[in-house]
Amino acid sequence: MRFSDDFLSELRSRVDIEELIGRYTEIRHRGSRTPVALCPFHTEKTPSFVIYRENQSFYCFGCGVGGDAITFVRNIEHLDYVEAVRYLCERVGMNMPLDPVDDEVNRLRRRCYEANREAARFFYAKLLSEEGQAARDYLRKRQLTDETVKHFGLGFAPDRWDALVKYLKSKDFREEELVSFDLARKTSRGGAIDRFRNRLMFPIIDLRGNVVAFGGRVMDDSKPKYLNSSDTVVYKKSRGVYALNFAKNNNGGKLILCEGYMDVIAMHQAGFTNAVAGLGTAFTQEQIALLSRYCTELILCFDSDEAGVKATNRALRMLENAPMKLRVMHLDGGKDPDEIIKTQGRERMDTIIRSALNDTEFALERIRQKYDTSTEDGKLNFGNEAVEVLAGVNNEIERDLYTSRVAAETGVEKHALEAQVTKARRARGRKEQNRAFENALEMVREGGEVKSPNPQKRQLRLACEAEEIILATLLRHPDFLRRLRDRLSEDVFVTDFNKRYYRDISERIREGRSLDLSVFNETGGNEEMSYLSYLLAKGESLAGSVKECEECVATLLAEKEKLSAPEVAQLSDEDYRALFRQIGSRRNNGDKK
Ligand SMILES: [Zn+2]
Repeated sequence: MRFSDDFLSELRSRVDIEELIGRYTEIRHRGSRTPVALCPFHTEKTPSFVIYRENQSFYCFGCGVGGDAITFVRNIEHLDYVEAVRYLCERVGMNMPLDPVDDEVNRLRRRCYEANREAARFFYAKLLSEEGQAARDYLRKRQLTDETVKHFGLGFAPDRWDALVKYLKSKDFREEELVSFDLARKTSRGGAIDRFRNRLMFPIIDLRGNVVAFGGRVMDDSKPKYLNSSDTVVYKKSRGVYALNFAKNNNGGKLILCEGYMDVIAMHQAGFTNAVAGLGTAFTQEQIALLSRYCTELILCFDSDEAGVKATNRALRMLENAPMKLRVMHLDGGKDPDEIIKTQGRERMDTIIRSALNDTEFALERIRQKYDTSTEDGKLNFGNEAVEVLAGVNNEIERDLYTSRVAAETGVEKHALEAQVTKARRARGRKEQNRAFENALEMVREGGEVKSPNPQKRQLRLACEAEEIILATLLRHPDFLRRLRDRLSEDVFVTDFNKRYYRDISERIREGRSLDLSVFNETGGNEEMSYLSYLLAKGESLAGSVKECEECVATLLAEKEKLSAPEVAQLSDEDYRALFRQIGSRRNNGDKK
């Protein structure tokens, strides 16, 4: 449903965003021009969540989420747009203008759930059919029982071009729908073919029991080994955790984080029903936030090979500020949990889980392995590096315990070691205080590391930066649009993404409409709101002058020029001839004038 700009502006003026956010996270420098807080959407120790009272928006420099009061309520209370507006209306005593109607997105979501459910059924039936023989053999070889296969809803995608597409079309799904749900792909001839072919299928199920996506694994050595659904209207890869639907209620707040689907399934079959895995991408802050809702202790269970150790270290760095306790399993005598369970049995696995090192022990062990601690030099080196690890332990009792241990191991006096640790902690504290602020500045300056929703940002960094400056400036100084009239038009924009924003913003300015975030909220999703807040935040640090915009226009024109000169070596013969003709005709036209 649509709300009028007037209604939204009225709502916006009545809601105090600072007070609203303050109910979820403690705001520092309350009431100052830029109050900051610990971000309620990702875990952090130093605040990178900034509230802009001036335009009643927020932006997190850590995770890139941003928007206005409505976006905030949507995200934190998990409400849809209309529900969030109603929530705010009730808080400030305003009436909702009309009854909400079921919106298009919800309809699309329901279709997507249905299509995925049907697809899962189809894959399961195919696994049990004649076509699924090889897949069944594979599962038998991996020693998965029928019960396990059924529990996880495993299936088989036939080695045909359009088996699933045909089936789902018979269930009244349209090809375009299947493409947008990432179950099918468009062919160059305009038809649709199955996204997953000749693969073992792992349905990914959300916490409410809906099939939201699939992972597909090959059964031989072909590549890619795993193929995963892309993001759709019901699924965000960066937020997904495999098997959390089963694991969430288990085992006194402990979760075991494995590397892949097969590890998780093997663990569950052996009775470790609190095992989960990420979904094929690098571990994200969003996943950590989700896991932290279901566990107080996270045990990392990665392969014992070099790649596994690297993955462990990467995950530990990501988890540095996570609220749960961390432990790391040491899988000696086997490459992965599946292998250990098979060759040494579940009791052995149980012992390994029990004796998992906590993160401090793990870090110390890593350093210990680098040096020969039977020599004086080795002890000294170990002790020196250990100081950094000890300084990172925030719990006092724990820190004291490990300091004693390292002192005993190296033969250094405990109080001498303590003095070093204290010094290192002080340096660390200062560094951390500065870091959040510097991060924020850096990101605004570089325009960069915050995940940009603009798909062309990576390749066209310079152009994007110039475009963002223009948009950010226009949001703050709408009158510049008139002053830049002769020089600025949508043709100046290089990326389609920013061109669309320019079109929207300039149209609003010309029609004299509001540029409040709340009036964008209705049409825009989270990503759009985050992007606009990012632009607003960026505007804070800009000169905000016509001249700056003019320079950006010049940059864009130069970038355009560069892009339009194709690399001749990369052209196909046909394109080359076309280009040649084009240049020829341009030259002829020029002659006539
Ligand atoms: Zn954040």
